[in-house]
Order: sequence, then C-alpha cells, then structure tokens
Amino acid sequence: MNTANTALRSSVEAYCAAIGTDPLLVQGAGGNVSWKDGDTLWVKASGTWLADAAEKDIFVPVDLPSLHKAIAARNFEVKPSVCSDSPLRPSIETLLHALMPHTVVVHVHAVEVLAHLVRSGFSEALGAPPDSTIRWACVGYHKPGAALAMGIADALAATPGANVIFLQNHGVVIGADSVAEVDAILQVLVAAFRVEPRRPNDVPVPSTTIETSPDQTWRPVTDPLVHQLATDPVLFKRLQSAWALYPDHVVFMGPSPLAVNDKDEFASRLRTTVPSPGVVFVRDVGVFADPTLNAGKQAQIRCYYDVLARQATDTTLSPLTESDVGELMNWDAERYRIQIAK
Ligand SMILES: [Zn+2]
Repeated sequence: MNTANTALRSSVEAYCAAIGTDPLLVQGAGGNVSWKDGDTLWVKASGTWLADAAEKDIFVPVDLPSLHKAIAARNFEVKPSVCSDSPLRPSIETLLHALMPHTVVVHVHAVEVLAHLVRSGFSEALGAPPDSTIRWACVGYHKPGAALAMGIADALAATPGANVIFLQNHGVVIGADSVAEVDAILQVLVAAFRVEPRRPNDVPVPSTTIETSPDQTWRPVTDPLVHQLATDPVLFKRLQSAWALYPDHVVFMGPSPLAVNDKDEFASRLRTTVPSPGVVFVRDVGVFADPTLNAGKQAQIRCYYDVLARQATDTTLSPLTESDVGELMNWDAERYRIQIAK
C-alpha cells in the first residue's frame, strides 16, 4: 500500500471509530464502511463493530474485479473472494460497496433518516436533494445480500451518478471520493431529516426485578429512555403494531415483541414463548431484560425507541411483511453475525 492509501485507511478507521460511538448513526455491529485501493475493496467484516475500528483490524480485503465481473453478469449471489488469510468474513452487504463506484462508501442505519424510511410513502414524499452535491435514489425494501444488491444496481442504472441511496426500511448508502466528503453528505442528510423526538414522560424507571423462575431474573433495562416503550401509551401501542420495521431490529430482537399488561400475564406468556424473547415490555411499568440482553441487543432496542420517538401520532408506518420477517429469521449469514457480535 502506498502512502496515499495508508492515509486513506487511517482516515477511514478514525471516521468509523467516531461514527461508531454515536448511537444515532451506528448501532452495535450494524452499518458498514469500505474503501477501494486499486483492485482491492477493503470492507468491514461481518459482526464487527465500527466503533472498534481504531483498536482492532475490522476490515477484510476482497478482490474487486471479480465482483465487478459478477455484477456485470447480474450474478448478485457471488461470494466475495478474500485476498488474505483473515478468519473474518466480509460484510453480508459487501456487494453494495462494490456497486458504488466511489472510493469511500459508508452504509449506516442513521436514526434521523431511518425514522423516515420506515414510513409509508417515503419515496413518493421525497423531493429534491437539499444540496447540489447530493444526487439521491431510492430502493424499496429487499432482504440484505443478493436481493438488496440487485435493487441497488437497478437504482444506480436508473439514476446515474447517484451518491446517496436510500434503502426503504433499512438505511442509507453514501459514496464519495474521501471520508470528508462522505461525512459532509451525511451531515446534510441528518440535518434535512431531523425531527424533534417525542418528549419523554416522567414515569419513574422501575427499581424492582421480576423473578419468573428460581434461576431467571428479569432486570429493568439500564437505558432510562427505553422504558418509554412501555410507559408511553402511544409507543406501547406502536410497538405492538409496528415491531418489524427494519432488518437489524428483527434479526437481533426477534420477529415480534413480548408486550404484556402486567406481571401475571408475563409469567403465563413466558411459559409459551420459546426461546426466551430476552426482553419484555410491561405496560405502564417498564422494560425488563434477562441476561441475554447483551450490548448488541441493547443498542438495537435503544435504536427502536429513537425511531418510534420520531414519529408523529398520525404517521402511518410501513412494517416489513410476514414473509420479509420469515426470510430474516431463517438466515445463516445473520446467525453468524449475531454469534460473533457482542
Ligand atoms: Zn444495513
């Protein structure tokens, strides 16, 4: 690698570490970043955290010409060829990085944008970009991987020169020649889509645990705002009607929520819910978790609160269909990602 590319790598890693710690931009192992160096595409490894980029090697080099050849033949199932002996797998979203012609590509589930992407009629309501540096295109919901890559390829063909791709019920992809340009675009998008979140109520955070068996204790989640999902009647209703809003939420938090009216109902529902849902929403009381609620899941549940808190009460959301959810739940690649995520 020459000096210029070493500098590019350093700037990408520093940027990943910075955005990786902002929960409104990146949640847990979600999001991925790449840069191109000649015939090599350096892409984030599946299951790794962008936040770790400064301390760990989270990038995997893959062969770019072979991906371009596959894309030209519309073979979106192509398996990226790793050009190192890294034990890590390239991101399941590697192909979208190869599709974008830009040197630096950032894909994030930025909350301010995501809160709009889960609404009915997002693409129809989208006007002109707020800035002349932005040329945007929209892609409907597709399962991440081959189907999504095909959707992005078609969007890029329909909107040549697009540097921002909105992915319905998922996130955004930004491409540019440098980290600074990508960041400038991301900042413009965040500002353009920003809405004031709902004002949290002042119901106290629960201080007691729930024992459902001698060896199973459910503790109140530590993030105080997450309890709003159970104590704010509008959010509690939303979570029951619009749970499956985007892939990472379903993959990490399951296909449906365990929302109950009281602790007795929780005990009886838990007996019939296998495997354990990991988190329970007790109406007017709070949100409780069993020890399986790791850092990755905590990031997801907070993201879900952040997305719901940005909806007006009369906004119609567009959850994933049952078949979309089914596809996500039976997905080996995602099982791998969850397994190696924290
Ligand atoms: Zn994604």
